[in-house]
Amino acid sequence: MTTQSPYIGRFAPSPTGALHAGSLLAALGSYLQARSRHGQWHVRIEDLDTPRCPPGTADDILRDLERCGFEWDGPIVYQSRRLPAYQNAIERLQQTGKIYPCACSRREITDSSINGIDGPVYPGTCRPGLAQGRIPRALRISTHDDLICFNDLIQGQTCQRLQSEIGDFVLRRADGLFAYQLAVVVDDAELGVSEIVRGADLLSSTPRQIYLQQLLKLPTPGYAHLPVLVNAQGQKLSKQTLAPALTTAEPLAALRHAMHTLSHPPPAEIDTLEAFWQWAPAAWHMANVPSQRTIAAV
Ligand code: GLU
Repeated sequence: MTTQSPYIGRFAPSPTGALHAGSLLAALGSYLQARSRHGQWHVRIEDLDTPRCPPGTADDILRDLERCGFEWDGPIVYQSRRLPAYQNAIERLQQTGKIYPCACSRREITDSSINGIDGPVYPGTCRPGLAQGRIPRALRISTHDDLICFNDLIQGQTCQRLQSEIGDFVLRRADGLFAYQLAVVVDDAELGVSEIVRGADLLSSTPRQIYLQQLLKLPTPGYAHLPVLVNAQGQKLSKQTLAPALTTAEPLAALRHAMHTLSHPPPAEIDTLEAFWQWAPAAWHMANVPSQRTIAAV
C-alpha cells in the first residue's frame, strides 16, 4: 500500500504594501488548491528587505486575509527571523565550491552585460577570482548552461539555461541581505511545501530555485504559476503601480471578482462569505485557470 504524502501549500507575501487585487489572486489560488486537496496552507511573510517593508504592513496583510476568511495552518513564518537558516544554507553551498565573492558594482555589471529576461545577465567577471585590491561585495553562485525544465501545472513545460539567460546570481547581496532566491528555497523545504502556487512573475525565478534545491539536495516541489493582474500599461499591480489596497473593498466582492479573474465565476446566490467558502474549494479546478502569464485588471 502506498501512502500519499500530504499536500502542503503556502502564500508568501512581501510586506511592502497592503493586500490588493493582485496579491489576493495568489492567496486565493494557493489556498483553494491546498484546501481542495485537503492539504495544509501556510503563510510566510517575506520581510527580508526590511527597508522596503513599512512597519505594520505584515499585520495589515494578515488582518485582510482574516477579514476575507482565509484560515492558515501553523504559525506565521517571518523570514526576518530565519537568518541563521539562510547562513547555514550558504555554508552548505560553499562546500560545493560554487559560491564566489563578487566585487562588481551595479554600474560595472550594467556596463558589461547584455540584458536578459530578468535584468543584466552577469557575465561571470569575478568567477575566476577577485582582481588584486578589489573588495568583495556580494556572494554569487556559479551556474551552468544545461537546460533546467519543469512542468508548470498552469503555464506548461518551462525551460531555461541559467548561465546564458540569467547569469551567476546573487545569494547574499552587497548590503548583507540574503537574496529572495535562497531564502525561498530554504523556507519552502523547511515547511515541506509540496506544491508552490504563485504569480507568473516568478516563473523565470523557478529554474534558479530548482538549481539551488539540487545543490542543497532538497526536493523540488510542484509548480503552478497563476496569471498576474496587470494594469492598462501592462505593469503588475503592486504598491509601486498604485494598486488600491483591498481594505477599501468589500471582502466578498473582492473574492468574487478574483474568482471571475481565475475563470471560476461564482453563482449569483454566493452572497455571503460563508457561502463563498463553502462553494469555492469544491468548485476549484486548476485546469480552468487561464494558461496565460498576465490578465488585465478590470
Ligand atoms: N514574496 C514574493 C512576492 O510577494 C512571492 C514569493 C513566492 O511566492 O515565491 O511577490
